[in-house]
Amino acid sequence: MRVLRSVAELDDALGPARRRGDLVGLVPTMGALHDGHLSLVRRSAARAAVTVVSVFVNPLQFGPGEDFDAYPRDLDRDVALLAPAGADLVFAPAAAAFTPPGARTTVHVAGVTERLEGASRPGHFDGVATIVAKLLLAVRPRVAFFGEKDYQQLVVVRTMVADLGLGVEVVGCPVVREPDGLAMSSRNAYLSAEQRRQAPALHRALVAAAAGWGGDADRARALLAGSLAGAPGIRVDNAEVVDPGPFERLEGPGDGPARALGAAYVGATRLIDTLAL
Ligand code: AMP
Repeated sequence: MRVLRSVAELDDALGPARRRGDLVGLVPTMGALHDGHLSLVRRSAARAAVTVVSVFVNPLQFGPGEDFDAYPRDLDRDVALLAPAGADLVFAPAAAAFTPPGARTTVHVAGVTERLEGASRPGHFDGVATIVAKLLLAVRPRVAFFGEKDYQQLVVVRTMVADLGLGVEVVGCPVVREPDGLAMSSRNAYLSAEQRRQAPALHRALVAAAAGWGGDADRARALLAGSLAGAPGIRVDNAEVVDPGPFERLEGPGDGPARALGAAYVGATRLIDTLAL
């Protein structure tokens, strides 16, 4: 497995595939890989001639006081997991070159980025969109894979790709969970044993909303809030029911698609999850 540290090395490695017109797939990650990430890699490997996995802890998407420094990093372990999942190349650019301090350009997607995760984490989605745009421009894949776990991020990326005409197919992939329902996340490693037992309450609240909502978004929201309020060790940051397309808050009864999303702290660890209703 080749690990490429710069865009120049990436261009060298991808040159033959590009000249042949091979289908290139990209899976952007921040490393600390788990089965959720690897499910995206497998999806890409099943479809693309060349699967590139980027491993880059994006400093632009962390706010002040967030866990950028503490975020788990182990590239050797990541690379060892990626080969059997079907990855062909790992793009792990050096931060100094990929996010140069003097850079003045930010990609901002209006609207969707102001709500929920965007409201809780100001600037987060600008950091995501800017780096995803840079990764797409560096790799030039025909298809890119993102997890539905970060559902709002998926909507931001789809909107950016459409608005900028980047010509990449964006594929959303289902949330991969632990046996007790907890969505797999690199941040689960921060949880103590007790917090780990408490954390699946976020998923259980989403399941309760999906089971009892009966087509009424207000009822789904109330079920979600009620279930989370009674969960020990859980401090809710946001919990909402949206139309998954435009990502707008839904109210009352309706028969269109709906999705519940939640963000909660378990101790100091912030977890997010989502479920289609
Ligand atoms: P991250 O390394 O957290 O930036 O995640 C990289 C990609 O993996 C994103 O598209 C995430 O949505 C996706 N991902 C993370 N966790 C999961 C999961 N449990 N199931 C599916 N996709 C995931």
